[in-house]
Amino acid sequence: MSDTSELSSAPSDIDDNVDSTPATTTQELTVQEVRIQTPKHRRRGIKRLAEEGTTPDKIAKRVTKAQVKHQEEATEEAAEEITQTIPKKRRKNQEGQDSSTTHVEAKVRLEKNETEDVKPTTNGTSKKTKRQKTKVETKVNIEGQEEHGNDTTGDKKVKRKRKTKEEKEAEAMPLAARTLGHKMFIGAHVSSAGGVHNAIDNCLHIGGNAFALFLKSQRKWANPPLQDEHQTAFLSNCKIHQYDQAKHALPHGSYLVNLAHTEPARATQAYDAFVDDLRRYERLGIQLYNFHPGNTVSKPREEAIAHLAGQLNKAHSETRSVVTVLENMAAGGNVLGSTFEDLRDIIALTSDKSRVGVCLDTCHAFAAGYDLRSPAAFEATMRQFDDIVGVRYLRALHLNDSKAPLASHRDLHANIGTGFLGLRTFHNLLNEPRFHGLPMVLETPIEVRDADGTALKDDKGKEREDKGIWAAEIKMLEGLVGMDVESASFVEMETRLARKGESERRRLQEQVERRDEERERKRKGKEGRGNAKARGKQKDMAETDSEELSSDG
Ligand SMILES: [Zn+2]
Ligand SMILES: [Zn+2]
Repeated sequence: MSDTSELSSAPSDIDDNVDSTPATTTQELTVQEVRIQTPKHRRRGIKRLAEEGTTPDKIAKRVTKAQVKHQEEATEEAAEEITQTIPKKRRKNQEGQDSSTTHVEAKVRLEKNETEDVKPTTNGTSKKTKRQKTKVETKVNIEGQEEHGNDTTGDKKVKRKRKTKEEKEAEAMPLAARTLGHKMFIGAHVSSAGGVHNAIDNCLHIGGNAFALFLKSQRKWANPPLQDEHQTAFLSNCKIHQYDQAKHALPHGSYLVNLAHTEPARATQAYDAFVDDLRRYERLGIQLYNFHPGNTVSKPREEAIAHLAGQLNKAHSETRSVVTVLENMAAGGNVLGSTFEDLRDIIALTSDKSRVGVCLDTCHAFAAGYDLRSPAAFEATMRQFDDIVGVRYLRALHLNDSKAPLASHRDLHANIGTGFLGLRTFHNLLNEPRFHGLPMVLETPIEVRDADGTALKDDKGKEREDKGIWAAEIKMLEGLVGMDVESASFVEMETRLARKGESERRRLQEQVERRDEERERKRKGKEGRGNAKARGKQKDMAETDSEELSSDG
């Protein structure tokens, strides 16, 4: 994951898109902001109607009828079933407005889209997709829901305050329809601001089939406990939208936690935070927990690894089921996990092998010196991974291109196809049968850039962000399965993306070269002084690490 805290970030442009999208039909013009609260079984009812071949028009008519009947206190079951999908207070509020029918139509349209296999497209903001960005609530609340604690989505208030950006975002219609039945489960690290259940909406929003999230603030040690309502809403959201959180959710651990820290007070603090996370995820039915192995803090490597494995064993014994998934790292020096040997050594000291796994971050691997670009290089790296670690431990992937060159030990994520890895790497990855069913999570930037890679700014000079970038990347990656690399469309895509990242690659290439020259000069200088202290060299490395860690993901 990149350094930016997802919990505090919100796109500034998504809602603008929604508002500025020209309405293409009269239907769209009548769309008002109405939330459809649809408990699970009610939603199934609507879905069933859609599946039975009832047209959205018919459903809409039935809903209108049902609404009238309800107002006349009719008790007919069929009417009741649909009527209750609209909160009572809202309904009263909407008397005289006929917008609710339109909303049900939009809703059904969404339902249908969710169950359709979508042809891959490289354009996540097609006309059709834009059209879907009406303000219809996609969130499905839990049965008999109450106010959501500090979550401001409570529906009892009729007069609502201006919505926060996060709320608006969660309510926006999907940027891309999700592909169901795909062998590869691709998604992104999404926001869980406002509650863990929102991660599902945010994943749905970008058409993802897998997701990563933070459950707690990445910059704070103390965090409020996981609320029961959020737990229930998460579980219910997974079920409704058919996400198997045991397989396709890959939460990311805190950057603050260094489980390899041996200093007692720090070690306890790190361990407590780690186990607290595992317990939270167990409550959510999540099986995989991704974390950075940590830093030796200048202790001998063997000692740090033994300590880390000891902490893992203890954590496994104090929890029931979560698999602790080690992420491979980019930086060298004191950072653990940048070699397959590190991962092997940690796993070797873990007592319960079923509770430990590896998440391969493509950017980190490449920056650490593992080539993945040509089919031969990819195959060789996979063989190496299998020989040293064992491919059976591979539980997940982070899909990131790299702004920095091979073996640069710089952790800088680039958009797919724009970095030094290039589109060919991802073609290799997406056509690897051993990755079937594993969660594949994008941690790519979402700043909007033009064809030459220049970041676009908004009116206030702020960099524009667009989650549609993830939606488009997911579709593009899904489309790489079985794609002919010599086809015109692949070559066009490869060339276009490479061009987009060209200036950034050049900049980083020069930066890395300068850094290496500087290091070489320092090393020679020390040698020149004869008895250069090993300590000094160690310090030098540690400084490099912390600098590199600041952009870690
Ligand atoms: Zn990563
Ligand atoms: Zn990470």
